[in-house]
Order: sequence, then C-alpha cells, then structure tokens
Amino acid sequence: MSKKVLVFIENKGGKLRNVSFEALTVANELADGGEVNAVLFGPGATEFVQEVSQYGSNKVYVLEHESLATYTTDAYTQALCQLIEEVEAEVILLGHTAVGKDVAPRVAARLGAGLVSDCTGVELEDGEIVFTRPIYAGKAFQKKVFSQGKVFATLRPNNFELKENLVQAEVIPFQPVIKDLRTIVKEIVRKTASGVDLSEAKIIVSGGRGVKSKDGFKPLQELSEVLGGAVGASRGACDAEFCDYALQIGQTGKVVTPDLYIACGISGAIQHLAGMSNSKVIVAINKDPEAPIFQIADYGIVGDLFEVVPLITEEFKKV
Ligand code: FAD
Repeated sequence: MSKKVLVFIENKGGKLRNVSFEALTVANELADGGEVNAVLFGPGATEFVQEVSQYGSNKVYVLEHESLATYTTDAYTQALCQLIEEVEAEVILLGHTAVGKDVAPRVAARLGAGLVSDCTGVELEDGEIVFTRPIYAGKAFQKKVFSQGKVFATLRPNNFELKENLVQAEVIPFQPVIKDLRTIVKEIVRKTASGVDLSEAKIIVSGGRGVKSKDGFKPLQELSEVLGGAVGASRGACDAEFCDYALQIGQTGKVVTPDLYIACGISGAIQHLAGMSNSKVIVAINKDPEAPIFQIADYGIVGDLFEVVPLITEEFKKV
C-alpha cells in the first residue's frame, strides 16, 4: 500500500547530514508509489533544496522561521508537529543523531504515534514496513511492525545505501506558529576542531586506556589525518582524561558504523562493542593476545600501538 513519507533533513553547521540522504533513499523504497517529502529548517534553508532533490523528493517543505536557525527542542517540536499534521505524513524518518534522538520521541508522543529508534534495517515486506533495531547492546536484533497509525523511525547513520535519484521537487514554504519558547541559543562553542563528524565518519581511529596519556593520542590523530578519518575513544580513555567525552564510542557514547574502525589499546568491553561492532571492517591493535577485542576484529595486530600505529601511518603516506 502506498505511503506518505516525510524525511527530516538535518543541517549541522551549514552542511546537510549524510544520514538525511540515507533516509531519503529509504523513504523512496518505503513509499511504494506514494509521496516522499522532505523538510528543511531555518532561514536560508531554500538554498539546500537542490541538494535534497538529488535523492528523490516530490515536495520539499521549507520552514524559514527565524526561531529554527539553531536546533532547540521547543521550536522544532512545535514546527514539526504542525507540518506533520498539515501534510498528513504516515511515516517520518530522521537520523539517529543527537537532534533526531531528542525531537522524534517528543513529537511522536504529542501526535500519539509509534516510534522505533536506532534502526539498522528498514524493509517493505508484503506491504508492511519491518524495522530492525539492535537490542542488548547489539547482541540481538528486534524486528518491529506497526499495523496502524503514524510511525516515526530514527535511522543509524552509515547503515543504509545512498542512491541518487534526481526528482524535480516542488518547493513549498511553510510558516509554523512558534510561541512560548523556553530556550534560545545565543552562541555555539565547538570543542572539536576536526572537520570529520565522528558518527558519520567512514574511517575511525580509536584509542583506549592503552594510549596512556593525552600525548598518546597524537600518533592516532596523525593516522586519522592521513586516512581522512576521525579520532574516537573508549570510555576508559575519556575517564582517564586522555581526551574529551565528545569522542566516546559505546553504549553511553556515540554509536558508529564506519567502513573501517581501528581500535588501538582498547580491550573490547561489551559497552564499547555496543557502539562499534557493526563497523564494516575492524582492525584491533593490542599487546595482549587475549584481549576480547580480537574476537570481533577482522584483522588483529598483537603489538605495542606506539610501534604499530606510526608504521601503518608511514605506509599509508606512501599510497
Ligand atoms: P582497558 O579495559 O583498561 O583496556 C586497555 C587495553 O589496552 C588493554 O587491553 C591492554 O592490553 C591494551 N594496551 C595497553 N598498553 C598498550 C600498548 N602500548 N599497545 C597496545 N595495547 C595496549 N566503555 C566504552 O568504551 N564506551 C561506553 O560507552 C561505555 N559505557 C559504559 C556504561 C556502563 C554502564 C559501564 C558500567 C561501563 C561502560 N564502559 C564504556 C566502560 C567499559 O566497561 C570499559 O571499562 C572500557 O571500555 C575500558 O576501556 P579501555 O578498553 O580503553 O580500557
């Protein structure tokens, strides 16, 4: 049965997030001949319509309200509720990002809709949408089906194929009524200077307690720069103050699915695996041959990371 799907397009620091395009690709598969619509937020959002059109959208709703310039729970919740009611969207897709995780359950609750979070698979089976999501820190997967009503889903970044599908989208300005805001963002102070967003990075070089100090992260930083990736960390490294918590990967940190994950001096605790075990290729560097990380690694190097990492960096510099 054809469906009306709405995709929340997320803009982070003036750049649209890749997971939004992944969501558009999924939306086109789910719509089953129905409508795929996208929504852009904030002043100047119209300039992104062309980019959104490349991934197949029949209509792009543009909400250029000044209160939507920066994400706030209040303003986005009000705007999204009004738009969903106006367009009568049946399936609403968002990225499983900080913003998606915040706004999706709130809007779903207000509209009395269902929600599936952190989906790693979404398929159409006999006209029904089947959502797959990991449970028990990634040890098992759950499949969910909603037989009636609206449903929201947040999609884990880097898990869905991107397909270009140029459609000349109709651009529809929409003016939501936004009032009684309890928060206003005055300034955003960014901590990480790296240009690569950890949750969408294709390559991650991650350090654990085995890096031993703040300086111990330098060889990892160098390798990630050569590979065009991002640096991540275990909670062990963050707790030891070797790096910022913004880098933490795992159950209580970021969930990542890069093409390549290089774990350096990380033992492989279950809570860490929960955040990275779906990576396509895992390389572990650890001096303990019994470290649990080797059980999920595709390639394991038993050795001292301070010797191994610079050697790998030198080799990649030659490529
Ligand atoms: P360790 O377990 O101490 O391992 C260090 C490793 O480095 C060892 O395997 C050692 O052999 C190796 N090593 C040492 N020196 C070298 C060297 N020179 N070269 C190569 N290898 C070397 N953890 C997370 O990561 N993310 C989470 O989100 C998270 N959430 C948690 C939530 C809860 C509720 C709890 C209870 C724990 C959570 N943890 C999380 C913590 C987790 O249980 C582990 O304590 C943590 O992951 C360990 O970090 P680590 O692997 O860096 O340190």
